[in-house]
Amino acid sequence: MNEMKIVVVEDDRSVMNLITSTLKIHQYQYSQAYNGTEAVSLCTSLNPDLILLDLGLPDMDGIDVIRNVRSWSSAVIIIISARDEDSDKIEALDAGADDYLTKPFSVDEMMARIRAAARRMQFLRASNEESSVFVNGPLEIDYASNLVHIFDNEVHLTNIEYRLLCLLAKNIGKVLTHTWIIDRIWGRGVSTDIVSLRVYMTSLRKKLKAYYEDELIRTHIGIGYQMIRIDQSANTKE
Ligand code: CA
Repeated sequence: MNEMKIVVVEDDRSVMNLITSTLKIHQYQYSQAYNGTEAVSLCTSLNPDLILLDLGLPDMDGIDVIRNVRSWSSAVIIIISARDEDSDKIEALDAGADDYLTKPFSVDEMMARIRAAARRMQFLRASNEESSVFVNGPLEIDYASNLVHIFDNEVHLTNIEYRLLCLLAKNIGKVLTHTWIIDRIWGRGVSTDIVSLRVYMTSLRKKLKAYYEDELIRTHIGIGYQMIRIDQSANTKE
């Protein structure tokens, strides 16, 4: 039996059945909520590690569920959105969600996200002792000396590029929205636009790619960026 506690929030019973039967096959423990009120009280009593949350709920907006739960919980929140408008996803990510699935999604896709979340939790637990060196695959960031290495090659970054990389590293696995990033790097109310952010990100990735070809930073078009956890045990790449 898998140790991770999962809460599934979904009012559509056929989608709920699809999700829970898949979790059962993979031996995950889960509890179900069919509306926002149930979701909040279930999360409060169970303190889950991961929440799969449908955004369109009958009694309250899924975003309010995120705000409520995020105020006290560090659970990984993966939103399930039927709406294909990016604005809902962006609002949910800014409210504290970690990742998203867009309906219709495959169960393989869902399991890949859950496994990624599990790895991220293990990683964060392991690096909890306020380590001053961040390691993700071949990437190494020494926060004390502000040095970045890939396969022992020093990567020369500008101040902004370095801060962007650190922000992504400290939130590894989480999808960070454009506005969220801009607020943290340049501060609120500063009118740095998404186009400028894209220029910095392009330059940063080019420098990383010079030493490592695989994807370290994923672009979510119209939404933001995400640092991908590099699986050390090779050939199980997702
Ligand atoms: Ca729904």
